[in-house]
Amino acid sequence: MNILDLELKELEKIIKEAGQPGFRAKQIFGWVAKGDTETESMRNVPKSFWESLPELRAELPEIEQTQRSKDGTVKCLLRMKDGKAVEAVFMKYKYGNSVCISSQAGCRMGCAFCASGMNGLERDLTAGEMYGEILAMEKATGEKISHLVVMGTGEPFDNYENLSKFIRIMNDPSGKNLGMRNITVSTCGLIPVIDRFGDDFPQVNLAISLHAADSEERSEIMPVNRAYPLADLIEACRRYTEKTGRRITFEYTLIHGVNDDRGHLDKLVSLLHGMLCHVNLIPLNAVKEKGFVPGTRERAEEFRDALEKRGIPATVRRELGSDIDAACGQLRLKN
Ligand code: SAH
Repeated sequence: MNILDLELKELEKIIKEAGQPGFRAKQIFGWVAKGDTETESMRNVPKSFWESLPELRAELPEIEQTQRSKDGTVKCLLRMKDGKAVEAVFMKYKYGNSVCISSQAGCRMGCAFCASGMNGLERDLTAGEMYGEILAMEKATGEKISHLVVMGTGEPFDNYENLSKFIRIMNDPSGKNLGMRNITVSTCGLIPVIDRFGDDFPQVNLAISLHAADSEERSEIMPVNRAYPLADLIEACRRYTEKTGRRITFEYTLIHGVNDDRGHLDKLVSLLHGMLCHVNLIPLNAVKEKGFVPGTRERAEEFRDALEKRGIPATVRRELGSDIDAACGQLRLKN
């Protein structure tokens, strides 16, 4: 049994059932959060304890490859116990250290421009495997993380039970103690889960992958739009902001000739006008097999200025790690 998969109260229960004192759970939780995952390194937990619970251990993914960018970004290929590989990325910002983790091995959403879904979904990651990504990245960098984004491979809302357990574990004061507001989850737009998420985690940041302001065009690049069309998605976003009072981030990846002309800009402005939101414009990371071409940096800035002028806060995402395989899912695809 992987300790990383357990919430504090679950760990406590297992420990008590083995006839051991419950307070060990908090001690172990604290050690693990510091990256001390070997039984010998948990100095105040006696050997006899581990002997009475031989099945209970903390299990990290193997760091198979590490790429370090000049700008401090570090990307790792992480191998799970069953051989499935995922990527995680460490980024340095003024406000702290952020890690982008994967929520699934592969993805079944099939977005046209994205490398992660090219071979479909392999399987969901467990809460402990997501936690393991964070600990592995801290190990690879020697740094502690303060912010977490679930924007790697996979659709987190297609793995909601494990995702929500993972968030609760991250937030536990005896463990990582990561503030809800320091966590961001990105979805392609699974509406029923957006509603649940707003109820369950009103403090966690929500990002929506929009990428088109016209429903038909959105269906062309994001098949999920056929099940959950744009108008319904926007309505769900309104429900979310009303319920939580929190700003939504809309991600808009600029793809040349697909969603980056003036007509697209006008549609985007009228779609989002008056919403409690922020637009993050992302220059496309070209994935060779996909054949899409990025919109220019200038066009992205034009989009940003036009949105800002209409009162919609917008930023162009800073490109980090462009000298390594930083594009979504590319390192994994290569392997
Ligand atoms: N499945 C979730 C989270 C993972 S993707 C989602 O769809 O939001 C994180 C973000 O990267 C999404 O906005 C996704 O559309 C975007 N993305 C995927 N491939 C990309 C690429 N090649 N270039 C730029 N952004 C990409």
